[in-house]
Amino acid sequence: MTVVTKNISIDTATLPVMERFYTIQGEGFHQGKAAYFIRLGGCDVGCHWCDVKDSWDAEKHPYINVDQLADEAAQYPGRLAVITGGEPLMHNLGALTKALHKKGFQTHIETSGSSPLSGSLDWVTLSPKKFKAPLPEVCKVANELKVVIFNKSDFAWAEKYAALAGKHCKLYLQPEWGRAAEMTPLIIDYIKDNPQWTLSLQVHKYINVP
Ligand code: SF4
Repeated sequence: MTVVTKNISIDTATLPVMERFYTIQGEGFHQGKAAYFIRLGGCDVGCHWCDVKDSWDAEKHPYINVDQLADEAAQYPGRLAVITGGEPLMHNLGALTKALHKKGFQTHIETSGSSPLSGSLDWVTLSPKKFKAPLPEVCKVANELKVVIFNKSDFAWAEKYAALAGKHCKLYLQPEWGRAAEMTPLIIDYIKDNPQWTLSLQVHKYINVP
């Protein structure tokens, strides 16, 4: 039985799943690789430009057993699983990441970093949000920092989180999808002056895959 308090699943053998699908990772360091995406329900961050607002209420989504999720993912040949949301760290990811590892998956997460880390994660993509700041513990372990640029002032905000990240962390600037026409040229100029950053584009949206 699953006990739910404030959208946090206590029994982590089941998790609220909005959707899951096999596709190509469209963003960041692992862009272009085949990946099985598991989008968990539940988010308490509240970005006004969020394109997955249906994910916010965990209770709208069916609770699915983690072994079933891993079995379904393993029907495809790729062995990279991306846990996303919503805000996936609202849930304890221990059981899910264990089930995925048992099937030979690398476990990746895309998170705002605003809730404590859990589970055994092979790759942490931190995408900080202004509406609920990331925890220092997530900044420190992030493998990649992906900052969405909505307006000019976001470059200074990106640098703030780059300073909190570890030396190993890869740094990406990504235009907000609806503002890409205006922001991409500014990002290109910024990266030319600050080459520690790399451009990330949401390639899956250009090639029309989920
Ligand atoms: Fe949407 Fe992600 Fe922001 Fe949550 S953290 S509101 S899912 S963009």
